[in-house]
Amino acid sequence: MDDAKRERHRKRLLALKAEMLGEGDLTIEPGREDPTSVGADEDSQPLSEMSQTIASSRNRNRSAVLGRVMEALARIDDDPASFGLCTECGEPIPDKRIELMPYVELCVECQQSHDAPRTPGGRRHLRDFH
Ligand SMILES: [Zn+2]
Repeated sequence: MDDAKRERHRKRLLALKAEMLGEGDLTIEPGREDPTSVGADEDSQPLSEMSQTIASSRNRNRSAVLGRVMEALARIDDDPASFGLCTECGEPIPDKRIELMPYVELCVECQQSHDAPRTPGGRRHLRDFH
């Protein structure tokens, strides 16, 4: 990957990071009542409880992405040559994939083996594709 391209991805990562940090915490909404009074009668608040669960899982997803953004930025600073390479097998990640997710750290094959670890007979190894 050339420097100009890497710099462009770095800027996108910085923008993503700023955007996510700027959004703040989803569970804190201006104009809401004191959260301690909302949880006072839990049995009568199933919807509120559910929406809190959803909000907190959204927060988890977002902080996971934020963590990956931070890691990708650290990687660009520490070891620029490794940016755009799969952290697992070391193969270059296709440009299109990086365009979609500049924080991506795995190639499609490695990502799939993470997403579907229940392959019968154990994990498929990348070397099988060579
Ligand atoms: Zn890989």
